[in-house]
Amino acid sequence: MARNTDPVCKMCRREQMKLFLKGDRCFSPKCPIDREALPPGMHGARRSKTSEYGIRLREKQKLKRFYGVLEAQFRRYYQLATRAVGNTGEQLLSILERRLDNVVHRLGFAINRNSARQMVAHGHILVNGKKCDIPSMLVKPGDIIKVKTRDGSLKMARETLQKGAVRIPDFLELTNNQDAPEGRMTRMPSRQDVDERITDIREQLIIEIATR
Ligand code: SF4
Repeated sequence: MARNTDPVCKMCRREQMKLFLKGDRCFSPKCPIDREALPPGMHGARRSKTSEYGIRLREKQKLKRFYGVLEAQFRRYYQLATRAVGNTGEQLLSILERRLDNVVHRLGFAINRNSARQMVAHGHILVNGKKCDIPSMLVKPGDIIKVKTRDGSLKMARETLQKGAVRIPDFLELTNNQDAPEGRMTRMPSRQDVDERITDIREQLIIEIATR
């Protein structure tokens, strides 16, 4: 299961936006983006005009890094989106929102997508009562996502839920947040349900580069 192992704050500096990849530090004054850090590299401060291609590439990289997706998987999601009915860009965002690690994070069981991915990969999450350790699995409406009733699993999820740092979107429903945190996908996510921290993403530009 490949994943991006680049330094996470460096990715935010490259995109010049907060991608929220580091838990509590992202919400503290220690975040380099809040301190107006420059893009990485020796000439980070000097980079000037970006080409049309560069603008589209940056938009795609932002989306991939925000959801923790690598290029090959992104390509697969794009192919899925082109086959779905409706606007391809919106379908692509909907598919990314349906990833199991994203759903675990947005239900408030993990502080960010990286932790959610780890929870899933380490077998702390049940989907419809069965263990699922594939973070990229796409959740369907009606699926029940539950944290395993094991002390370690419950502790992690309860701590994040108590912090209340994650706003649960309308397409998900938290059905039990006390003894065994549990949630359900009520419908397919739409463009309006995309994480508010990335709502200004220009999916049309991403589709333009993906079709090349
Ligand atoms: Fe680092 Fe989080 Fe700030 Fe990004 S948002 S630069 S990951 S602290």
